[in-house]
Amino acid sequence: MKYTDIEQQINEYKKLFPSYDKILNFFKEITIEQNKSIEDTRIVPPDIKKSLRDIHLKEGFPLIDKQDFFIDINSSIDLFDSLCNISRNANEKLKINIQYIEDALSINALNLAEIMRNFHNEPYIEKIAGEFDIDLIVLKFLIYESIKPSIILNVEIISKENDMKNWHKGYCPICGSMPDISKLDKNGKRFFKCSFCNFIWQSDRLKCPFCENTDNKKLHYFYAEDREAYRVDLCDNCKQYIKTVDLRKINYDSFLPVDDIVTIHLDIIAQEKGYKRPVTSLWGL
Ligand SMILES: [Zn+2]
Ligand SMILES: [Zn+2]
Repeated sequence: MKYTDIEQQINEYKKLFPSYDKILNFFKEITIEQNKSIEDTRIVPPDIKKSLRDIHLKEGFPLIDKQDFFIDINSSIDLFDSLCNISRNANEKLKINIQYIEDALSINALNLAEIMRNFHNEPYIEKIAGEFDIDLIVLKFLIYESIKPSIILNVEIISKENDMKNWHKGYCPICGSMPDISKLDKNGKRFFKCSFCNFIWQSDRLKCPFCENTDNKKLHYFYAEDREAYRVDLCDNCKQYIKTVDLRKINYDSFLPVDDIVTIHLDIIAQEKGYKRPVTSLWGL
């Protein structure tokens, strides 16, 4: 999607959800930067072995691991720099932490190329955050958003070369990560969006993606008070939840990452009811 379109689309949401204005502006600025960065991002598609491709659908193995995504290090570093500039104005927490990052960069104590290469290495990222007193969530957020153009390009190629129509699992067919949001399309078919690579795949309509529970006595949901298009699917088997957008009930173009933002109040309600969100939203920064 061109960033002019995204800008327009987010403006549409801003009119509908005025209380989320500030965070939507922040999201918009970041998305525009990422879309510009995609034009300078070059990737070598990951090599998927034929043997893996064969057992992929049959045995339910995702095609690649997170570390197999090819990341354009240089364009990610440039984007990291732009995202720091945008984020410092978003709120006090980001401002302070970006100052710590820049202090460390100014004395060459942070190796951004090494950090980008280790995006999947949790202990490494935790070590860096601890060493420089940087908030771990802020650091993870900046790294992930910086490598996102590369991830999107990897997924574009992989999804063209591999048929994933019959997957129907609760986890991503490409990278194995859990979904962060789901949707019901205009025909009532259910789709999940991967929390890491953003790939969208079709799955069973009545199923908890996290524990694969299909017992409808243990699956229920509640709606947003004033907007029936947004609901929270709760699973009593694993006590986890996922938000779902029902496209049959909206008359604007849905953009799932934004739907996830404008329903943060539903996360709060679900968590108050005692359910957990397995994939944390980074927009709670
Ligand atoms: Zn994925
Ligand atoms: Zn469950």
